[in-house]
Amino acid sequence: MNFGVDTGFYPLGSCTMKYNPKINEEIAGMKGFQALHPLQPACTVQGALEVYYNMEKSLAALTGMAGFTFNPCAGAHGELTGLMIMRQYHLLRGDLKRTKVIVPDSAHGTNPASAAVCGLEVVVVKSNPDGLVDVADLKPLLGDDIAGIMMTNPNTLGLFEKEIGEIAKLVHGCGGLLYYDGANMNPLIGMVRPGDMGFDIMHLNLHKSFSTPHGGGGPGSGPVGVCSKLVPYLPTPKVVRKEDGAFDIVGCDGKAAGQVSGFLGNFGVILRGYAYILTLGKQNVKLVGKYATLGANYIKESLKDCYKLPIPTVCKHEFVFDGLVNDGSKKAADGTVEREGATTLDVAKRLLDFGFHAPTIYFPLLFHQAIMIEPTETESLETLDSFIEVMRKIAAEAAEDPGILKTAPHNAPITRPDETTAARQPVLKFQDEA
Ligand SMILES: *Cc1c(COP(=O)(O)O)cnc(C)c1O
Repeated sequence: MNFGVDTGFYPLGSCTMKYNPKINEEIAGMKGFQALHPLQPACTVQGALEVYYNMEKSLAALTGMAGFTFNPCAGAHGELTGLMIMRQYHLLRGDLKRTKVIVPDSAHGTNPASAAVCGLEVVVVKSNPDGLVDVADLKPLLGDDIAGIMMTNPNTLGLFEKEIGEIAKLVHGCGGLLYYDGANMNPLIGMVRPGDMGFDIMHLNLHKSFSTPHGGGGPGSGPVGVCSKLVPYLPTPKVVRKEDGAFDIVGCDGKAAGQVSGFLGNFGVILRGYAYILTLGKQNVKLVGKYATLGANYIKESLKDCYKLPIPTVCKHEFVFDGLVNDGSKKAADGTVEREGATTLDVAKRLLDFGFHAPTIYFPLLFHQAIMIEPTETESLETLDSFIEVMRKIAAEAAEDPGILKTAPHNAPITRPDETTAARQPVLKFQDEA
């Protein structure tokens, strides 16, 4: 009864559930890699250290950063690490007043959470009606107490922040740093680089964009990259190449923002990412962003007559609908509700009947009936077309008789569990029939 991206379409916005080629699993499962121990002397693990070293160079080339650490084990862990680097940078300059971090209201929930865990105060900057950071709202927030800003670009609405050059100038101008949440790097790969946009620190989610299956709690890898002036602040240990060409592991030096995990992070995930980059190669890696963007726009344009599209511009890898155009609700002459319309939750539940995983719903919080769709670059035109067909069918059902949606799913093993109990006390095993 399991559902996975290998067997069905999984359009979960902001989560990048994309197909992971099995060759990368086979490589990560090779005996020589599997039997490694983190306490082995460096001279016995030269091949593995070379993977770290080359992966750092590859990610630096793709992102425009000067150096990376692979120590963080997840995206949120990378955010915390990046913010620790930001804080360390200000502290070692004796700039003790910088305790605030600016976060857009469209940000992923982990951004303000990571800032709070790092002991920084979160200041929210508003989005304008186009769904982009409102530069006029940002300006008065800037001052000598700002450690930096955390941004995603394209942002959580799938929109490219066109003012990023101006924003970088303003934040740097007040002495702050720019943090880039690169958890969803798909649309950028081969197109533009966060380093060129003016970002100083960033993280990637290897378990989203670089070919490790995710969901269910790991393992993950959230490497953190920095611009050249921040390289000395990267956590340790790290892999270096010595003059004689051999690879080595070096420990803490003076400025490093501490150690954030045991040893060098999740090697198996880094290895999969490296295999993924090498199998695509320099030319094909440039197609990732283009296909991720094309797929999202294709679905958006094919459905916008039956689902409300609050921001009707070209999107990047994902986009947000705000519920149904016609939800089937009816009002009596006196204004009372005669028939309840179908909600976003009802659409999501009905999708399960047709063998699709539901998209992300009720996030971001900017819209009441948000449906956030991210097809990723790995789905075929046939899959996108059958998803569009089903979404249109569901919209037609809602207009005709929303009750069909309200009682869905009809074909799943269970119908509507209490959402809170299901999340807090999940039953993940088959139960014996009583
Ligand atoms: C998934 C995601 C994160 C968090 O990554 P985890 O590995 O789940 O901690 C952060 N930011 C964005 C935009 C994401 O999509």
